[in-house]
Amino acid sequence: MKVIIDHSLCEGHSRCMDDLPEVFEVRDDDRSYTLVETIPAELEEQVRKAVSVCPRAAIEIID
Ligand code: SF4
Repeated sequence: MKVIIDHSLCEGHSRCMDDLPEVFEVRDDDRSYTLVETIPAELEEQVRKAVSVCPRAAIEIID
């Protein structure tokens, strides 16, 4: 699994980073970035949850 973040939608609410700081990092530009290129299998379920709680639907999963 890989994820991409649409920076035209992301508003830096940090819910993704709050839930999963191993994967998401909100930087000074108030945009979230992924810290890993491929999501480890043991974190996939948590990533799906982070996608569902993003208020801007800015995170997309690429299987
Ligand atoms: S929760 Fe969504 S809008 Fe907020 S920082 Fe993460 S990707 Fe961006």
